Amino acid sequence: MALLEIKKAGDPVLKKICAPVEKIDKRLRKLLDNMAETMYASEGVGIAAPQIGESIRAVVVDVDKKNRYDLINPVITYREGSVVDNEGCLSCPDLFGDVERAEKIRVEYTSRFGKKKTLEAEGLLARCIQHELDHLDGRLFIDIAKNITKGRKEKSD
Ligand code: ZN
Repeated sequence: MALLEIKKAGDPVLKKICAPVEKIDKRLRKLLDNMAETMYASEGVGIAAPQIGESIRAVVVDVDKKNRYDLINPVITYREGSVVDNEGCLSCPDLFGDVERAEKIRVEYTSRFGKKKTLEAEGLLARCIQHELDHLDGRLFIDIAKNITKGRKEKSD
């Protein structure tokens, strides 16, 4: 496995609409493993392929270091509720901001072995998936966040 360079805001690859993944093979699985390793090394909970310079519809998320999801060609097919919370992004070091997201979602995707799957998510996992899927459409959280701060806001108590 290998650590990959994370592209930072301002890099044009982060603004592109990513292409669907056409071929699920060893090369793709290796890329997903390298994305995961890069995410864990950076203390992130999610990473999207364009963040490492590959403009394809693939993301890796793991919000509890126990359940890693590799989502290929993911599509959100159901959303419920809305909740505002503070987010950051590996491509926007040291920036944080409040983003409104659906509270619960259902996402359909293809697994790393080519199986069609459905995942229901809520809380941090739902937030993370929505954040990563935005990357696939060239959208960064700083494009939609409110109250952007440098450094994480201190909680008062
Ligand atoms: Zn991000």
